[in-house]
Amino acid sequence: MTSMDPQLIADARRTLEVERTRIRLVLSEEVEHPRVSHGAQTAAATEVSESQRGQQLREREAQHLGFIEAALQRIDAGSFGLCQSCGQPIAPERLEALPWAQDCVACHAKNRR
Ligand SMILES: [Zn+2]
Repeated sequence: MTSMDPQLIADARRTLEVERTRIRLVLSEEVEHPRVSHGAQTAAATEVSESQRGQQLREREAQHLGFIEAALQRIDAGSFGLCQSCGQPIAPERLEALPWAQDCVACHAKNRR
């Protein structure tokens, strides 16, 4: 177990659950109701790029959903708020802004390079 502020964990869980619901909705909507292009004047090339953009968006959202589900699992496992790289606690301000963050600021900066 961590010594995380229970209020922060409760807030994070709520944010994560809202975000998870939103992304699941986005992903299901895109699949069930593919966006129809507006107007017959839309060129075929535009439709292709629209659909590629939609595909990229879905992939980004799906990846984001993975981070969110991992964070919710860490809450259940009692390891929420610990950096997955160095094991040190992640700054509460970072968790408030990004509850799905899985590394501390130092490791994030390091891994970014
Ligand atoms: Zn770290």
